[in-house]
Amino acid sequence: MGLELTVLGCSGSYAGPGGACSGYLLDDGTTRVWVDAGSGTLANLQRHLAPHDLDAIVLSHEHPDHWSDLEGWNNVLRFTLRRTGFPVYAPAGLRDRTYQDTAPQLVWHDVADRDTVPIGTMTFTFSRTDHGPETLGMRVDAGDRSFGYSADTGPGWSLEALGADVDLALCEATLTPDEEGTLQHLSARQAGGSARDAGAHRLVLTHLWPTLDPARSRADGSDAFGAPVEAASVGARYEV
Ligand SMILES: [Zn+2]
Ligand SMILES: [Zn+2]
Repeated sequence: MGLELTVLGCSGSYAGPGGACSGYLLDDGTTRVWVDAGSGTLANLQRHLAPHDLDAIVLSHEHPDHWSDLEGWNNVLRFTLRRTGFPVYAPAGLRDRTYQDTAPQLVWHDVADRDTVPIGTMTFTFSRTDHGPETLGMRVDAGDRSFGYSADTGPGWSLEALGADVDLALCEATLTPDEEGTLQHLSARQAGGSARDAGAHRLVLTHLWPTLDPARSRADGSDAFGAPVEAASVGARYEV
């Protein structure tokens, strides 16, 4: 297989009815990485793999809609898998936000802007975005496929920072057009423009606020991108 993306959750900031906050499973057939662990994503992860098959977790930033299910994962490691030394990659300081003492279940690896980190058969390259706390967008290369993720960002950062020719870009699109500039997030229109400028081959919108109309977001994003875009939904799978 190539590189496969499964959406575990895609609600922005809080989960909509029956939904889940940000979380994604990347699987290249050898390595399986859970990127962001917002509320509801641990439950959905178990629909797609047995917990002992997970290799690592990567967290983009300290806002809880991107990591709060790490508390539950710590319990999986401690009581079910009885596993220690599980790797978590995150900006420095996120560890201090956790409620539980995560040692020895988790081993934390600090990552920062411009770091390149091999995780199994994948290579992650991080880029600091335009968001409140230190927030890391990322490019993931696996075999001949490349995936880009904006994490949370305002318009002061672009997917261009992840380099050229990303096969699939997953970009936040939190806001309505009227809300552009009011928060450090993007509208679907801005996400489409960012992906177009970066030369991304395909675009999936995510981190949509539960109050948004996804059809409107798809239309706005497609207009700006210059080709049809998709809006993430829980359980959706994409071949990168
Ligand atoms: Zn968020
Ligand atoms: Zn955030």
